[in-house]
Amino acid sequence: MAKQPTHITDVVIIGAGPVGLFAIFECGMLRLKCHVVDTLDMIGGQCTALYPEKPIYDIPAYPKIMAADLIKQLEEQAEPFNPTYHLNQQVEKVTPSGHGRFEVETSTGTRINAGAIIIAAGVGAFGPNRPPLPGIEDYEGKSVFYFVKNRAQFKDKRVVIAVGGDSAIDWTLSLYEIAERVTLVHRRPKFRAAPENVARVHELAESGHLDLVTPYQLIRLEGNKESLDAVIVSTLDGEEKSIPADVLLPFYGLAMNLGPIAQWGLNLDHNHIKVDQTTCATSTPGIYAVGDIATYPSKLKLILTGFAESAQSAHAIREQLHPDEVFHFEYSTTQGVPTVSEESSA
Ligand SMILES: Cc1cc2nc3c(=O)[nH]c(=O)nc-3n(C[C@H](O)[C@H](O)[C@H](O)COP(=O)(O)OP(=O)(O)OC[C@H]3O[C@@H](n4cnc5c(N)ncnc54)[C@H](O)[C@@H]3O)c2cc1C
Repeated sequence: MAKQPTHITDVVIIGAGPVGLFAIFECGMLRLKCHVVDTLDMIGGQCTALYPEKPIYDIPAYPKIMAADLIKQLEEQAEPFNPTYHLNQQVEKVTPSGHGRFEVETSTGTRINAGAIIIAAGVGAFGPNRPPLPGIEDYEGKSVFYFVKNRAQFKDKRVVIAVGGDSAIDWTLSLYEIAERVTLVHRRPKFRAAPENVARVHELAESGHLDLVTPYQLIRLEGNKESLDAVIVSTLDGEEKSIPADVLLPFYGLAMNLGPIAQWGLNLDHNHIKVDQTTCATSTPGIYAVGDIATYPSKLKLILTGFAESAQSAHAIREQLHPDEVFHFEYSTTQGVPTVSEESSA
């Protein structure tokens, strides 16, 4: 791959989950320009990928907010600071580039030179566990979806859902209301999900509102590589059944992988990065960690904890990048939202 020209910035944020997004705002308030990289093709981390349509109740000042709406608000809050997003690419390398700066390189060849790095990588880069179905990649994003971003896209579709965990049960209960037909496939008659929801699925199956296909497992897809016609399932004895389908939603869980971050020489503790609680600085000067990936004694893995950590790391970075500037702390109510130039401040 030909090397791409290097972007120059103050801060690279690795991870566009809720905490990474708020870090853009906190850095922006201190006039630090940010580039943000995420493996997923969308911002929002776990909120977008895992539970966009679930309500969150412990975000300060929002008695209840849908996870997807929280991400929209955070994006809007970060917007005045013109963050540059590099999505669908994983940060693979972080190397010192002299004068305390870093060169960050992604899986697609993007290179960013930054004065500091904030790792807001959650549980690591995550991707779906794929069921072992030949040719499934051909249908991904067209007829096979590992995450539901927009429930309405399944209206009047024949939807097959697998397997037996909370996501499969929750989406079965949600989609049967709008889909032409929902079929839930699991290789055991028992489900590993909230008992009241499992009971509701059984009730709906008994009253003919959806189909339960157990004990069967997915073995093959039939279609034209664009759109599905049927999902073929089989018992352990090899008895096959064809389920007419437009869409397959395989919920086999997520593979969480710290990935390349584990190779950057940081002080780790069970796949988390140890930080100084007062600044969120890691063991490598210039690299900070916030949100789910950061750990210290009595750490609470909550979005609101990550928000505070974002503020702490931004202040520490400002001091690191501009040690000679006298800093006068101002509330946002006093200073408003400053503008950040396209250029790095360093
Ligand atoms: C079902 C569910 C319900 C929850 N409910 C609540 C709740 O009610 N309240 C609450 O406070 N919390 C809740 N949480 C937890 C909350 O979602 C997490 O604490 C929060 O998402 C952490 O945010 P983050 O930004 O640190 O990481 P994440 O949201 O995990 O985002 C990290 C991002 O980093 C990216 N990434 C990782 N490594 C790389 C790399 N090398 N290169 C590029 N990108 C990378 C990932 O792709 C991901 O998008 C819930 C979690 C789940 C699963």
